[in-house]
Formats: sequence, C-alpha cells, structure tokens
Amino acid sequence: MTSDYERLAALNKNHVWHPFTQMKDYVHSDPLIIERGEGIMLYDVHGRAYYDGFSSVWLNVHGHHVPELNQAITEQLKLVAHSTLLGMANVPAIELAEKLAGISPKGLNKVFYSDSGATGVEIAIKMAFQYWHNQGVRGKTSFITMNQAYHGDTIGAVSVGAIPLYHDVFRPMLFPSHIIPYPYAYRHEGGEMKALEDTLAALRNLLETRADEIAALIVEPIVQGASGIIVMPQGCLSEMAALCRKHGVLLIADEVATGFGRTGAMFACDLEDVSPDLMVIGKGLTGGYLPLAATLATDEVYSAFYGDYQEQKTFFHGHSFTGNPLGCAAALANLKLFEDRNIVEGVRTKASFVEQKLAALKDRPHVGEIRQKGLMVGIELVQDKDSRAPYDWAERIGVRTSLRARELGMLTRPLGNVIVFIPPLASSQAELDAMTAILSESIISVT
Ligand code: PLP
Repeated sequence: MTSDYERLAALNKNHVWHPFTQMKDYVHSDPLIIERGEGIMLYDVHGRAYYDGFSSVWLNVHGHHVPELNQAITEQLKLVAHSTLLGMANVPAIELAEKLAGISPKGLNKVFYSDSGATGVEIAIKMAFQYWHNQGVRGKTSFITMNQAYHGDTIGAVSVGAIPLYHDVFRPMLFPSHIIPYPYAYRHEGGEMKALEDTLAALRNLLETRADEIAALIVEPIVQGASGIIVMPQGCLSEMAALCRKHGVLLIADEVATGFGRTGAMFACDLEDVSPDLMVIGKGLTGGYLPLAATLATDEVYSAFYGDYQEQKTFFHGHSFTGNPLGCAAALANLKLFEDRNIVEGVRTKASFVEQKLAALKDRPHVGEIRQKGLMVGIELVQDKDSRAPYDWAERIGVRTSLRARELGMLTRPLGNVIVFIPPLASSQAELDAMTAILSESIISVT
C-alpha cells in the first residue's frame, strides 16, 4: 500500500509544474510537501517542523495560522467572499484604501487594487505611460530600470526586468527599457562611493538627454531583492528621486518586497523620506496570507485620468478579483497587528540581534559579504575571498547550502550564490537565535 506521502508525491510529479524550478531536477528529488503552519514554523506531511527562514518567499509577517488574521477572514467570509470593484465597491476595500493612504509616503492618496506584485507593477507601468498620454504628451513612452532589477513575471514587469537569466529569452517580445547600473558596491572596482557616483551619473545623463522619451524610472527602493539582497548606498534613492522630479520623469517605487516593515521602516522609501509618484505593494500587505496587491498613486497622477467619459482618459485596466474582500479584510487585520504590536520598531531591534549573531560568519573563508537591511539578509558566498571570484554556477553552492539548512530544520531559497535569510517579522529572539545558528552551520558545513 502506498503512503499518503507517496500518493501526493506521485500526483505532484505528474501534475504540478512548479515556478522557477527545473522540473527534471525536481521530479528526481523527494518533494517537501507542507501540510500546515503554526507561528513561524511550517510542518510537512510527515509532521517534520521547519523554521520559515524566508517567510514563504519574503511575505510572511506575523507567522502562520494567526488567530487575528484567521478571524478577520472568517468574519468576512460570513458576509461575502467576493464581489467586483468594477463600478461598485465593498466595505473592506474602502476601509483598507483609507488606511493605506494614511501610512504610505506623503501624497499617495489613491489605491488601485490587484492580486500580485507583478500585476501591481503592470498597473504602475501602464498608469505612468497613460499619465503622459492623457495630457497630450506623446513621446514619453519608455522606462528606466536598474541593472539586475526584478519586478515580477508578467510581460510588462519582465520588460522592466534586467536579470539576464530570467529575462533575456523573452527580449524579442518585450518593450525595451533603459538600464542604468545598480550600485553593487561589493562588485564595483571603485567601491561604494564610486558605485553610487556611476549610478547617478548614468541616470543624470539619460535624463538630461532623453527625458522627453521617458515616462518613469522604476526602482526597488533601498534593497534590490532578487539580484541578491543588495543594499543601496545611503542617499542613492533620494538623489534619484530628486533627479526624476527635476527632469519631469515619474518615479515608481516597487515596494513589493521591501514594504510592510521588512527594512525596519514601514516602507523603504521612508528611510530616505522619498515620496514616489506611484508605489507598488504586495506580499506583506495581507501579512502574507492572501494574494492581494495594490498600486498607490498621487492625486496628481490620478487627476490626469479624471475627465469626461468621451475624453477617453479612463484607466482601462482591471482584474476579476481586484479588491477581493477577503484579502482586504486580512490586510486590515494585518495593519491592526502592525499597530498593536509595534512591529516596525521590533524589526529594528531584531535586525541588530541578527547582525550580531551573523557577525562571526564574516571571517569564514568563503563568506564574501553579509548584506542586511532590517530583516532582509543576503550572504554572498565566494570561491576566493581575496579576489572575490564567484563560485561556478555548476557548483550550486546556494542550493546545497539551502538544502543543508532544510536538513537542519529551516527553509530558505538561495539567489544564485547568495544565501537568503528573511524571517517572519514576528520571529522571537529565541527563534532568530535558532535560525541564525542553522544558517551559520549550513554555510560552514557546505563551504
Ligand atoms: N517586485 C519585487 C521587488 C519582487 O521582489 C517581486 C517578487 O519577489 C515582485 C515584484 C513580484 O511579485 P509577485 O511574485 O507577487 O508577482
């Protein structure tokens, strides 16, 4: 007789095509099949417990199976699970929009809902494009993005993406974007200041010569995530924002990964007091519970779409599940927990604790750099510490380290040679202690 695990594993192999996964490798492995979660632990179908060391892909805030979130969803379920936002409203979507406008950087007063980070980015791109069009400005049709940027996997989001491994195959079907260097200090010959200078010079040059062709700059504020958790030098974001403003180019802040406390501020833009024209949020918006995202816009952007119907200024965009009441109810409960539990303040204390716990790793022979902002940590492993020579791709050092962490009871997912540690914001000190110990041990044993 086959066990339930064997049955599920066979069905998984036969029918489920996993994202960002080479299925030939995967079908020959024993799949991890999660059955339930409690606090910051996930349990597989065998009952084995794992720390959720990457917040289930960077989105979990308060842990799993959180009574307050469960209750908010259950209460909403008793009323209505879904009704459309096309031309009508629902109660939690209204309440949430007001709350989001209240906590977001200055001026972001209008909320356009969607279902995932990528769709939120898609909306921001289309809004920026149509913003100029609606004002009779015809040439401003292209975008600036940063080298190694990741903004999601829909076609618009991929067009402003710049990770060759993910994006190059699709180039022929994408709109071209201007790519400026990202200030990756560790891999810049001149170090941090020169990296910053080069980024700003490239942006300035583009804006001085081609601003009349450019609708917006899109940026992952303060921390570029998927490229390897790379933290910008201080002042970079605010300088870029000032340049955009000066040259009449919109700024889109993609806070999908950095939003909701992850960097030690509610939004990463707050760290440099930056108010973008458009801001995209997702992931932690519902505490990582349900697929909900939003694109926030200033009144200035919104007003360009406001007119008589025959002027055709309407933003013709929407998704069937836009503003889903269950998602909005979860998001409202999430924001209440943020307030009640001082989550953002807590992140700052926890971040210092994590920094201390990981400090000893710096001396390890294959630890090139430990990068951290709040509770976002990336540890770049290198073949040779002096020359900073990277590990060969085929060595799969990141994958092997993450698998070792799993054996030791913690889940994470690498970004190439960078080991990711992004724990739920609610993790206690004891849990952070245990997770950093696993992280250190897995790096030490594999490198
Ligand atoms: N933008 C950023 C900065 C992200 O990190 C991600 C996902 O990791 C996305 C957009 C895409 O979000 P989603 O996976 O919800 O579509």
